[in-house]
Amino acid sequence: MQAAQYIGNKQFSIIETSPIPPKDDEVRINVGFVGICGTDMHIYHGVMDARVNPPHTIGHEISGTVAEVGKNVSGFSVGERVVVRPLDYCGDCPACHAGHSHVCHNLKFMGIDTPGAFQNSWTVKARTLHKLPANVDLQQGALIEPLAVACHDISRARVTAGEHVVVLGGGPIGQLVALVAKSLGAHVLISEPNENRRQFAAQYGIDTINPITDDIAEFVKQWSDQKGADAVFEVSGVQPAVDAMVQVAAVRGRICMVAIHSQKPQVDLFQFFWKELELLGARVYEHADFEMAVDLVASGKVDLKPFITSISKLSDIGDAFASMDNNPIGMKALVSCEQQ
Ligand SMILES: [Zn+2]
Ligand SMILES: [Zn+2]
Repeated sequence: MQAAQYIGNKQFSIIETSPIPPKDDEVRINVGFVGICGTDMHIYHGVMDARVNPPHTIGHEISGTVAEVGKNVSGFSVGERVVVRPLDYCGDCPACHAGHSHVCHNLKFMGIDTPGAFQNSWTVKARTLHKLPANVDLQQGALIEPLAVACHDISRARVTAGEHVVVLGGGPIGQLVALVAKSLGAHVLISEPNENRRQFAAQYGIDTINPITDDIAEFVKQWSDQKGADAVFEVSGVQPAVDAMVQVAAVRGRICMVAIHSQKPQVDLFQFFWKELELLGARVYEHADFEMAVDLVASGKVDLKPFITSISKLSDIGDAFASMDNNPIGMKALVSCEQQ
């Protein structure tokens, strides 16, 4: 079998290696497709070398087929199609004991802190698996992980039917947040400067605004019949969006911080007093978010196919990363990791 290793400085090498037999509580997966995430792009650019310690196999947005099961594993059998919730938690810290293992004090993110999925075969703990129903193919399966991120954001912000939801930033996660909100019956607006991304949202019937040329505060007022947004998602990571998020929020609006800001943004705390706003953090996902993501795709409420910008072979993984660099508005590049 083959594995791709990130070796630093925007380079990958393909190595010949052997499948790892599963331990008692593990499952070995024949990898189907793996998506390239924004985090993978950060790794590729070398900014996370201290954490990933190259050479290292990365990749965490994966679908595949169960190939071997450890002897204590129940509920999964060879041939079943699955996705992986790539969180390795300790099970014995205050966060884990409180039922928040996704923000475990000792959390290891699989594919960053431990070996990942850009290889023909990946061996993982059975507790990380979720089943794919027959009508969800492996290509869409590779997008369940980012969709689960969006499901977690929506659940943190407690979005319900009929509410007005503003998403600041129309990259892959922003678009998915908007789609999950829409699937729940919310009215959704994406604020995004890039025209292609606005068109991408429009094909799903989502309202859009260009925050560079339009006054977003004024627009949201009109759009929401003077009320403002019940829930706001900051998915852009830029200061103007942090300014906008408090302006567009309704009285008692919930603001969910999704983006990872590289610098500490300035937040207008006065508006938190004035409108009794609520600010919510959101990090990765829980078991229920993955189940919700699978259900949304299986039921046809969210169609992930338009997100797939390209599909490359594992041997061409370097080109796949380079093409995301050259086409930063592309939504999702997949790498086919099935053994040739
Ligand atoms: Zn990701
Ligand atoms: Zn823990």
